Amino acid sequence: MIVVMRPRAGEAEIANVVRMVEALDYRAHVIRGVERTVVACVGDERGEGHSLAHLESVAGVERVMPVLRPYKLASREVRPEGSRVTVGGVEIGGRRIVVMGGPCAVESAAQVEGAADAVKRAGAHLMRGGAYKPRTSPYSFQGMEDRGLTLLETAARRAGLPVVTEIMDAQDIDLVAEHADMLQVGARNAQNFSLLRRLGRIRKPVLLKRGMATRLDEFLMAAEYILSEGNPDVVLCERGIRTFETATRNTLDLNAVPLLKQWTHLPVIVDPSHGTGVWSLVEPMALAAVAAGADGLLIEVHPDPAAALSDGPQQLTPASFAHLMAALGPVAEAVGRSL
Ligand code: PEP
Ligand code: MN
Repeated sequence: MIVVMRPRAGEAEIANVVRMVEALDYRAHVIRGVERTVVACVGDERGEGHSLAHLESVAGVERVMPVLRPYKLASREVRPEGSRVTVGGVEIGGRRIVVMGGPCAVESAAQVEGAADAVKRAGAHLMRGGAYKPRTSPYSFQGMEDRGLTLLETAARRAGLPVVTEIMDAQDIDLVAEHADMLQVGARNAQNFSLLRRLGRIRKPVLLKRGMATRLDEFLMAAEYILSEGNPDVVLCERGIRTFETATRNTLDLNAVPLLKQWTHLPVIVDPSHGTGVWSLVEPMALAAVAAGADGLLIEVHPDPAAALSDGPQQLTPASFAHLMAALGPVAEAVGRSL
């Protein structure tokens, strides 16, 4: 259920509603919109309609409504105007399309510095790079781990870009959060519920990637795990799913973008690098993603993709990335956004 407060409800009235909701054994999440505040009540659903309906007569309350979708806090109903998530001073979910660029993996100081300069110069807003890499084979390069985090942070700070990097294991959360402005949950951990819960208890934004076999309702329930623990700063990333098609690494599901925007208030970005696995397809699919309403893009960029230790075939050179960024501006403008 959600308790919709009147537009000018005061703090004391909101606090009173929270107290009453909690006394009924629900958790109350206060969601402050531009026009009005909503108190989302989550907990055991049996009989909640009866026990909360009487709040309609409480001071400051406009109405009490059921949230029909199972993802109560992620549902668009609780924040119709959409959420904005700020990462190191960069806002995601506003008018501006936010681009995160950088290598698949941090490989060396020279490589990550080259990538940072290239993405900054081309106009990216955030720097990405993996220090902990989820690889299909245990014999493949697994990432530089803590040393990679330091190299990534140093290069990104020098370029003046906030940092996003993957968290694979809950035991590394504190360390990764020390070096990064946003923690990424990769496709392979999209339904690692204990990791998601732990990320719900930190004060850093989370970039949640869709699992390769995750339906959109399951994707939103995964986000709900983070939100329900108290972290409101979640950005969703469509990165392609497994289908029968083998011509591309994954099938980039751009249907997901407008559908997610209808179902949830959370910002949605697209990763055409993993979504296609083919560098020459990254720019056209990035443009298509923005045309479809994405709030941002995640693009893999390597100073020398041919020498990359992971995902070489899909990483853009600095020149191709600059080309993509130049092509993006007019598309963003055509759909009422800016770069
Ligand atoms: C990545 O972004 O580096 C990555 C491993 O992506 P995904 O989890 O989408 O495969
Ligand atoms: Mn990669």
